[in-house]
Amino acid sequence: MLLEIENLHYNINEKPLFAGFNLSIEEQSHHLLVGLSGSGKTTLINLICGLLSPEKGVIRVADHDIASISESARDKIRREHIGIVFQTLRLVSALDLSANLLLAQRLSRGTTDAPLIASLLERLGIAHRARAKPHQMSQGEAQRAAIARALVTRPRLLIADEPTSALDETNTQQVADLLLECATDYGVTLLIATHDDRLTPVFPNRIALTEHMLKAA
Ligand code: ADP
Ligand code: MG
Repeated sequence: MLLEIENLHYNINEKPLFAGFNLSIEEQSHHLLVGLSGSGKTTLINLICGLLSPEKGVIRVADHDIASISESARDKIRREHIGIVFQTLRLVSALDLSANLLLAQRLSRGTTDAPLIASLLERLGIAHRARAKPHQMSQGEAQRAAIARALVTRPRLLIADEPTSALDETNTQQVADLLLECATDYGVTLLIATHDDRLTPVFPNRIALTEHMLKAA
């Protein structure tokens, strides 16, 4: 298992959001994390990435229990194993796309891999935008750039939080297809948090966050 969560407890304002939650995700599988707004999707992602600490429980990423290690050790595991597609594009505005991706690799690994960047930009259909600054890109291009940004560090787990919530029908379909194709091509495990039903036909495996599942009986 690439990701295993056991007996997760997490409170928000002293009220339980997760109380005995369990989840296992196999390497190279693809899942939608679905649930109404406020059901805890983003919180769960932050817990998996080690940006929040649980009250209790085990969160094992690539065989490391990130709930029980230091913050710097958690940062290292996140940098090495997890790529995150955020809702908004997080690139340095003064640098073009190519320089941003080189920087991301350097920060994550200490080394760069220009051929991987070239291959990802080609795969995502934005090779011609390599010299564009973030503000010069269209919304569809920016979303593809965000996927490239998440994949340039060769993560084992790719997490996307509402990647299509701001996109129209055509871009949503394209981003869903690209996420699936890239995950398959690069052998990446995929977890996509969404309340967008348009993604269901592309990703049939669903993890539903419902009251019933979150709170132990
Ligand atoms: P989702 O991503 O599924 O919409 P979230 O994980 O963002 O859900 O939120 C889960 C619950 O936690 C919601 O009730 C939300 O209001 C609450 N919440 C999230 N972040 C905070 C925060 N920083 N402070 C207080 N409440 C929060
Ligand atoms: Mg959210």
